[in-house]
Amino acid sequence: MIDHQTGYQIDHMIYADNAATTQMSEKAKKVMIDLMDQTWGNPSSLYSTGQKAKEVLEEARSRVAQVIGATPREIVFTSGGSEADNQALLTAAELGKKSGKKHIVSTAFEHHAILNTVKKLERDGFEVTLLDVHEDGIVRPEEVVAALRGDTCLVTVMYANNEIGTIQPIREIGRICRERKVLFHTDAVQAVGHIPVDVSADNVDMLSASAHKFHGPKGVGFLYVKQGVRPASLIEGGAQERGRRAGTENVAGIAAMATALEEAVANMADNAARMTKLRDRIIDGLSKIPHSALNGAAEHRLPGNVNFCFEGIEGESLLLLLDDKGIEASSGSACTSGSLDPSHVLLAIGRVHDVAHGSLRLSIGETITEEEADYIVRAVKDVVAQLRSFSPVWRDLTEGKRPFIL
Ligand SMILES: *Cc1c(COP(=O)(O)O)cnc(C)c1O
Repeated sequence: MIDHQTGYQIDHMIYADNAATTQMSEKAKKVMIDLMDQTWGNPSSLYSTGQKAKEVLEEARSRVAQVIGATPREIVFTSGGSEADNQALLTAAELGKKSGKKHIVSTAFEHHAILNTVKKLERDGFEVTLLDVHEDGIVRPEEVVAALRGDTCLVTVMYANNEIGTIQPIREIGRICRERKVLFHTDAVQAVGHIPVDVSADNVDMLSASAHKFHGPKGVGFLYVKQGVRPASLIEGGAQERGRRAGTENVAGIAAMATALEEAVANMADNAARMTKLRDRIIDGLSKIPHSALNGAAEHRLPGNVNFCFEGIEGESLLLLLDDKGIEASSGSACTSGSLDPSHVLLAIGRVHDVAHGSLRLSIGETITEEEADYIVRAVKDVVAQLRSFSPVWRDLTEGKRPFIL
């Protein structure tokens, strides 16, 4: 990719949308292909082809459990993060119905897998308190305490936000829930494989994860459910997953997930250190663009997440021009792109509509280099300047016809 105006160049595409999905690791891919070739039996079958698959499946369960500090019986394999989130909420709702507790506490900036499921529960007679999120993108434990009621059956707060990368005080919220004997779930899809997660130290009762966010395959994930809590089944059918999730297991995908997870955790400290440095280099560079702002606190942030608002431009146009320059990024979550509404996460942290529309999320990968980080900064600066040069909104702002917000 050559920028003809400035002459700077890079000879490959830069994928900076790892919060939407990641490329499979070579190791995980190989495990998956080998298993599809050789271990294709049905794990529920009693003959050896089936039992071989069963062994692989149970070994994967132990490996996944080990990484997050759980026991194998506490892991339910699912089709991904969305399913795990749905199952966690259904589990809490079923328990709540039995005990007459029908109040749920969550936050305004959860993933839609949570938000739309709590909405459904609301139509089902549950009451939901969505906590406001502060400008820094961090939920306050004391506000969780204040929201708890005698009939609260669940608190669900995401581990790290998928758009602005802010890491929540999960351990503290978990401690509070445990004291009050309220079930606590966390959507840890952006955290697992990226930052240390330990279900017992973090005091969580349920936790969702998804393989394709840590270089595993798409369509595979898991729900951790603490021993003593009986998971409700979303999918009725056979007795797979000890009756908690019917359907013949995706053995190859599940084993590839275990491999990707172990690999991510083995390299986590090194990767996080390097990415954090380059993330901050990009944040420093982009902060120099006038009338821009970082979304979410710089502290307590995922190592790979950069999210900015630039006043006077449209995020969508920004993405198209960046793609021309070889940079693949996002303006919000992949799930909402294509809709005209600005990101609910940016609105939740208090960005007004106009500003929220001019957002850019760069979620860099583990292999990012200093040269790429610098290229990204230069390219974004150029594209923002270019878009502003023909933006009527920007003209009004600079001519004082409307006030700058940032
Ligand atoms: C990606 C994502 C999900 C959904 O996971 P899938 O495996 O794509 O269903 C849920 N929550 C968060 C925070 C995510 O980033």
